[in-house]
Amino acid sequence: MVTVDLNRLTENYHAIRRHVGASVVMPVLKANAYGHGLVEVARHMEALGAAVLGVAFLEEGILLREQGIRTPILVLGGIMGDQVPLFLQHDLALTASSVEKLTQIDQAAQALGIRARVHLKIDTGMERIGVHYYSAESLLEASLTCRFTEIEGIFSHFANADAADLTSARVQLERFDEVLRFYEKRSLPTPTRHMANSGAVLQLPESHYDLVRPGILLYGVYPSNEVRRSVAVTPALEWTSRVVYFKVLKPNHPVSYGSTWESDHLVRLVTVPVGYGDGYFRALSNRAEVLLNGKRYPVVGRICMDQFMVNIEWESAYNGDVVTLVGAQGGQTISVEDLANWADTIPYEILTNINTRVPRVYVRADTD
Ligand SMILES: *Cc1c(COP(=O)(O)O)cnc(C)c1O
Repeated sequence: MVTVDLNRLTENYHAIRRHVGASVVMPVLKANAYGHGLVEVARHMEALGAAVLGVAFLEEGILLREQGIRTPILVLGGIMGDQVPLFLQHDLALTASSVEKLTQIDQAAQALGIRARVHLKIDTGMERIGVHYYSAESLLEASLTCRFTEIEGIFSHFANADAADLTSARVQLERFDEVLRFYEKRSLPTPTRHMANSGAVLQLPESHYDLVRPGILLYGVYPSNEVRRSVAVTPALEWTSRVVYFKVLKPNHPVSYGSTWESDHLVRLVTVPVGYGDGYFRALSNRAEVLLNGKRYPVVGRICMDQFMVNIEWESAYNGDVVTLVGAQGGQTISVEDLANWADTIPYEILTNINTRVPRVYVRADTD
């Protein structure tokens, strides 16, 4: 079970808002709101008064509209030409990353008699999507001739804003500023400018522009170990399960697929009904720890699709006891960073992989 503390989300949102001053905060809700539950988190952000929400895909935007979210939504990812009418029909702002895409959007808007809302995407060094900064002028020129499209925003994305060394991030920032001079030179109003992800929110105040796009930070997790923690946030998510089986394991009786672990003495094991099918990665086998009765115990043997085993040596545990995979128990904590380290990945991948079959529960825990 995943428990999301909405009060923590509120506090994190306000902490980010205070930090960025006049810039608008666009909560990024892609990938099931980093595992926290897309619709619930969107409702909560809407209730908090967020001016605009960010998602990656058309499908995420449509789901939010179908669930009654009225707040403006920007789809940050690339678009397929044949999807454009769906964006427009669901009142989703689109990302235009080339002249061709922009033209498709403007034509689709004309055909439907709807005004399209577009943000221009400039590639300043990520080499993912977006028109290159050195040929951006053609896209900006083209945007001035669109008759059925409102250019709401112009944005770019950092490749290294969460690093200790910000040299390359600063180069990207300069390239973006150079592109933005287009408007100044022509005395045209500049659309809403945005570039900052969580790392840049924390480390690069000069990148905050008119709007910032924090994802992981909103959920209370820092984007990297080396990033400056200039905003205090707290994790909003706990992941728990319960002991489903208890047994005594004889020496030299290997545990789980592949028989990768055995004990040379008598121990007690408990089985937990969570597996890689829930997003508890197989890479955590024989590496992760869990909390049970306020103590840390190791995961032993391979993690299966739906279950894994924990060695509690000769201590006691009972069926139904709470097992914490991420969160706190008895003064001990296991963080998503811990899981990421054990699985040789990053916190983002841990959070976004907690499968939808894991029930989500929303609480507003008392905070002082
Ligand atoms: C995912 C994403 C973000 C948020 O990134 P975090 O590192 O989680 O803050 C911001 N902007 C774009 C374009 C993204 O794809």
